[in-house]
Parts: sequence; C-alpha cells; structure tokens
Amino acid sequence: MNLMNIGSLSYEEYENRTVAFHGCFSPGLLIGGFMVDLALRSLPGGALYDVICESAKCLPDAVQLLTPCSIGNGWMKILKIGRFAVTFYDKHTGDGIRVYLDTEKLQRWPEIRSWFLKLVPKHEQDTRLLMAQIKEAGCDILSTKPVLIDVARFQKKKGKPISICPQCNEAYPGEHGSICRVCAGILGYFSEADVLLPQKMLVA
Ligand SMILES: [Zn+2]
Repeated sequence: MNLMNIGSLSYEEYENRTVAFHGCFSPGLLIGGFMVDLALRSLPGGALYDVICESAKCLPDAVQLLTPCSIGNGWMKILKIGRFAVTFYDKHTGDGIRVYLDTEKLQRWPEIRSWFLKLVPKHEQDTRLLMAQIKEAGCDILSTKPVLIDVARFQKKKGKPISICPQCNEAYPGEHGSICRVCAGILGYFSEADVLLPQKMLVA
C-alpha cells in the first residue's frame, strides 16, 4: 500500500507543485499537504466544505493547491492565531475536522521538531534531513479532532451599500463611514508621500 500520496498526487508530484506555487521548498507546505490530505480523508464525501487556517504561513497554500477553496472565493478563511492547524467543515451544519501538528508526536522526529519550534537558526538546519523526516513521518506527526464550527460567524454579508469616497474617489463599503479607511488614516499602508498624492491630484 502506498501511503505517500497527497490527494491524487504522489509525494514527488506534490513536492514539485509546492515549489512551482510557493517559489521555494517549504517544510510547512509539505506538512500542510499531509494535513489537507488527512482532513479530506477524514470527512464524509458529498458535502460542501469550507476551510479555516489558523496560520497565515504555508498552510493556506497547501489548501489552495489541493482543494477548490481559496482566499479569493471565500471558501477559506485565515485566522491569525498562529497555530499550525487547519479545519475543514460542512458549510451548512458546521460539522468538521481539525488537523493539527501534534507537538507530542514530534519527539520521534527531532529535525522536524527543531525546525517547527525554531530551536536552531535556519542556517544551521539540516535541510536534507528535515525534508527526509517530513516525507517519512507523513501523517505520523498529526492529530485530528472533530469540531463544530459557528457557521453564522463566517457567513458572507450580502447587500451592503457601497459609497464613493469624496477624497480618493474610490468605491468602499459604506458601513466604514463617510470616507474610506485609507483616507481616514485608519488603514494606511503607503508612505506619507504616497498618501498625499490623491489629494494633490484633486487640488491640481
Ligand atoms: Zn478615500
């Protein structure tokens, strides 16, 4: 029996796709593949599933590589809790399965443990050994737990009004107030020079 498949892919095929998708080798993305695979195998078929990632690192890419759930279509949510766990749940009933990297099970896999808990600086990490252990461990370092999700919390809000911001002229959710959040200075991510640009253009 070949336990090394991830979804419909062989481990090597999955590994190659992670590099193409993610831009580089990623231990978290390889482990994430086993996590997604385990979640999918643990769920009854036929239902429509949504996904919650408890980490923004690596895991969301595993979900997007192996399932139709993406950030863009809203079937995957990222909660920045920082735990390496993913939950697949029935979007109607909330019944789901949470898969997480089990720190107790890491005792048998010292190189994975040392990478995961950042026990050694990256340049001292034995990458070949780490990759070998990830492949050999597979689902051995994971645990699962049935969970019930509060689906109402994640339902899309429909029909909310859109406003045009009088300062930048761009559309934004009207519930944010009389101007958009960037012009209000709440969620600016530009350098100060750039923030001033739209106003300069309006004056000119
Ligand atoms: Zn604005």
